[in-house]
Amino acid sequence: MAGIQSKNTKPELTIRKGLFRQGLRYTLHSNRYPGRPDIAFVSRKAAVFVHGCYWHGHDCSLFKMPANNAEFWRTKFARNKARDQVVRTELKDAGWRQLVIWECAIRGKAAAEVLDVIKQAERWVRDGNANLIIRGR
Ligand SMILES: [Zn+2]
Repeated sequence: MAGIQSKNTKPELTIRKGLFRQGLRYTLHSNRYPGRPDIAFVSRKAAVFVHGCYWHGHDCSLFKMPANNAEFWRTKFARNKARDQVVRTELKDAGWRQLVIWECAIRGKAAAEVLDVIKQAERWVRDGNANLIIRGR
């Protein structure tokens, strides 16, 4: 099970294509950088992660603890979250800034809302702002 490490998910492709259309160029899933960011802007030292709400245990409506084997899943999601935290620290220590886009910010949203998220992400990349999290409302 690829789980938390899964690449090229639908939300991720949406963000990638959107950023490309805004004229940005990037590196994908490179293990040369901590946490193998989904999208890396190497010269800007900016890493973008598109997190699936389920596997990353997001506190939102897309996440629901499975009823069966609850203890197993609780441990699993806790481990996934702990790994996310380690990656955040490693990237920070290496001087990278980070943007996390949660799946709930784009899944099931109207095109205009998705475009808004993409533009927010583009501004974040270009303006050199500090860490940012974009999540659904
Ligand atoms: Zn979410």
